[in-house]
Amino acid sequence: MRRVARSEAAPEDLEEKGAKELEQAIQHFENNPPNPDSFSFQRYKLKSVKDALERIFHGKCAYCETFYASSQPLDVEHFRPKGAVAEENGHRGYWWLAADWDNLLPSCIDCNRKRNQITPKGETSQVRLLDNTAGFSAAAAVGSGKKDSFPIAPNGTRARSRTDPISAEKPLLLNPCEDNPEEHLTYFFDRDHPVSFVLAKELAGDPDYSGDDGLSLKGATSVHIYGLNRLRLVQARTQLLRRLEFMADLAIDLKHLAETLRQNVDPEITRAGQKVDAFGNRTLAELARMCAEDQPYSAMAQAWMRDFQTRLQTL
Ligand SMILES: [Zn+2]
Repeated sequence: MRRVARSEAAPEDLEEKGAKELEQAIQHFENNPPNPDSFSFQRYKLKSVKDALERIFHGKCAYCETFYASSQPLDVEHFRPKGAVAEENGHRGYWWLAADWDNLLPSCIDCNRKRNQITPKGETSQVRLLDNTAGFSAAAAVGSGKKDSFPIAPNGTRARSRTDPISAEKPLLLNPCEDNPEEHLTYFFDRDHPVSFVLAKELAGDPDYSGDDGLSLKGATSVHIYGLNRLRLVQARTQLLRRLEFMADLAIDLKHLAETLRQNVDPEITRAGQKVDAFGNRTLAELARMCAEDQPYSAMAQAWMRDFQTRLQTL
């Protein structure tokens, strides 16, 4: 998950039609007595909303950064669930935010819907990309997917009506438009066994979000609820990690070869060295492109790039 600036204002028709829908919802929920039936919200699914979210998030899921736009329909997801709250019986959901632009995120089906996911337990030996029958035997099916989940910190205060301030809630889930996921999540890199797990980051001294184990409670909860270490996702990130490692080794080898060739007294060989050096630079440019924010799993790729640059300095 990477930080994303919500770079576009709410689509005009969402503002207009969403306001009318909210008036109907207020009638529905705040009538005396309140209507016990559910309310069918529709406006958050407007095409203009889907198109804007696709542009802002580059066709990727807000939570796991899988590029879904070419293969599956976009789920417009409510960060604060609109119809119920899994952690609190009787809560009717944040219905007043059903068409609130800041509450809408694009999500892949796996992050959004509740289902059991094969989830490796975090040992590198379990995750061999093409060996998933033996390699994952120690994995477990874990229920994940956000759906109506919206846990808050123990000292947060749950909003139950539209007059309650949501700023008092202290959510335990990362919102890529409001949080900096880098402060709560970290990636595990092991060059001998390239595998991509995302882990809760160390976070000390934060009265709301530091867990007893010194890790970010918000990071840990997000990994669990969004299922950020589900098997297929770990495999997809690992595939990218291996490509990055391959390209990095190639670039380093080309640069070393270029340096050797350029030191040769034969001008032909020196020129060949310059060409090899240019190949090395093109490989480095491609590496940088693979880490760009519009690419899948860019948070992991950028973390890897920082690690790689540190490694380069020690060569
Ligand atoms: Zn996702």
